[in-house]
Amino acid sequence: MIHIENKQDCCGCWACHNACPKHCIEMKEDEEGFCYPQIDTHSCIGCGVCDKVCPIVNATGEDTPHHQEGFLFQNSDSLIRRESTSGGAFTAIAAEIIHRGGIVFGAGYRPGTFIVEHQPAETIDDLRIFRNSKYVQSRVGTAYSDVLAQLRTGRPVCFSGTPCQVEGLRHFLRGREYMNLICVDLVCHGIPSPHILSLYIERAKQQIGGRFTNILFRDKHYGYHYSSMSIYNSEEKKNYHKGVDSDAYLRAFFSNLSDRPSCYSCRFKKRYRHSDITLWDCFSPEQFTDKLDGNGTTRILTHTAKGTEFINEVVAKAGTVVNVEPDKLTHGVREMFHSVPMNLQRSDFFRDSNAMAPAVFFDKWFPTTLSVRLNTAVRITCHRLGIYNVAKRIFMLFYTRRDER
Ligand SMILES: Cc1cc2nc3c(=O)[nH]c(=O)nc-3n(C[C@H](O)[C@H](O)[C@H](O)COP(=O)(O)OP(=O)(O)OC[C@H]3O[C@@H](n4cnc5c(N)ncnc54)[C@H](O)[C@@H]3O)c2cc1C
Repeated sequence: MIHIENKQDCCGCWACHNACPKHCIEMKEDEEGFCYPQIDTHSCIGCGVCDKVCPIVNATGEDTPHHQEGFLFQNSDSLIRRESTSGGAFTAIAAEIIHRGGIVFGAGYRPGTFIVEHQPAETIDDLRIFRNSKYVQSRVGTAYSDVLAQLRTGRPVCFSGTPCQVEGLRHFLRGREYMNLICVDLVCHGIPSPHILSLYIERAKQQIGGRFTNILFRDKHYGYHYSSMSIYNSEEKKNYHKGVDSDAYLRAFFSNLSDRPSCYSCRFKKRYRHSDITLWDCFSPEQFTDKLDGNGTTRILTHTAKGTEFINEVVAKAGTVVNVEPDKLTHGVREMFHSVPMNLQRSDFFRDSNAMAPAVFFDKWFPTTLSVRLNTAVRITCHRLGIYNVAKRIFMLFYTRRDER
C-alpha cells in the first residue's frame, strides 16, 4: 500500500488513484494546495498495484541513450503561435491526432473556472484550451483511465503533460506499448501550487474588478522575449499585463518558493525519456538558423521512431521546421537536467499564505519597490524600442562574465 512519508517522494501524478482496483485512493489537497494519495484502509485489499504504478517508487534514473532527433518549429498560423507559449508545436501535433480521428488529453481550465485539470479534446477548436503553459499543477483526475479506454478502441490518442505526468501514465500502462499512443512531455522548471494561484486570483479580483475571461501565464502581449502574466477582463480597459520582474505570481514561481516539494529533487529531469516527444522553448533561434523569426520557437526532441515519423508528418503541414543535431539542441538546457533549488524561505512563505489576507500576503513577499518599478520601466522601454532581446543578451553576457571572474 502506498505510503508517503516524505512529501518529496510524491509527484502528485494520480497513477495510484487511477490504478486502484477498489477505487479506494482519494487525492486530497494538503495545506499547500498539492494533492497526495489518501487510502481508505478499510476498502484496501493490499494488492500493491498502487506501489507498482508509482513512477517515483519505480524510478530508474537516467535511461540508456537511444536514438533521438531534434527540430526547431514555428507554426505558420500566426494566431496559434501568438496564443501558444513558444512556437505552437503542441497544437500542430494535437491537430494531426484530431485529423486522424483521434483524441487529445492535455491541461486546460475546467470550464467556467481557473482550476487547471487534464481533459480531453476531440475537435480542432477545443485544442485552444491547451495552448499556453499554465504554471500550476494540473489535476490529472481519471485521465489515465480515460486514455486506456480510448487506446483499447484503437483510436489515435495523444497525452501531454509534465515529465512526471507522462511517467505516471507509462507506469499506469505497465510499460505496455500502444502504437496508437503519442506521449508529449515538456522541459519543466517545476510546478507551482494551486493554493497560491487561488490566493493570487482572489487578490486580483479585489484589485482589478470586472469579470476575468482568461488568464495566461506566458502571454506574448509584450512579445515572446518578455512574456507576461496576463489577466483578460470582460471590460477591456481592465486587462492586466505584468512581466516576471513585477507580477507577484511569476516572482514566486521564479524564486522557487511555490513549487511542489518533489520538484526540488525531480526524478524525471533527464535527456532520455519515456515520452515520444519533448517540447520546450527556444529564445535564440538565430543561434541555430536564420530561417526563423523572434515571435516564438519550440524546440522538439523525439525519442522514438513513432515520435519522429509523427513530427515529420506534422511539420510538412503546419509550419517551418529546422533540423538540429540533438546534442546541440539540448546543450546548456538547465531545466532539462537539474531540479531548481528550494528557496530557504519556502516554509515561511506557505505559512504566511495560510495566515494572511491575500493582498497582505503578496505585498509582504513581493513589494513593488522603486527598483521593481525601474526594472519594469526599462524592460517596457526596451520592448517598445525593439531592442529587448539584444539588451537582455548583453545583460546576460555581462552577468555571466562577472560571475566567472
Ligand atoms: C509548468 C511548466 C514549466 C515549464 N518550464 C519550462 C522551462 O523551464 N524551460 C522551457 O524551455 N520550457 C518550459 N516549459 C515548456 C514551455 O513553456 C512550452 O510548453 C513549450 O515550449 C511548448 O510550447 P508550444 O508553443 O509548442 O505549445 P503550447 O501550446 O504552449 O503547449 C501547451 C502544452 O503544455 C501543456 N501544459 C500546459 N500547462 C500545463 C500544466 N500545468 N501541466 C501539464 N501540462 C501543461 C498542455 O497540455 C499542452 O500540451 C514549461 C511548461 C510548463 C507547463
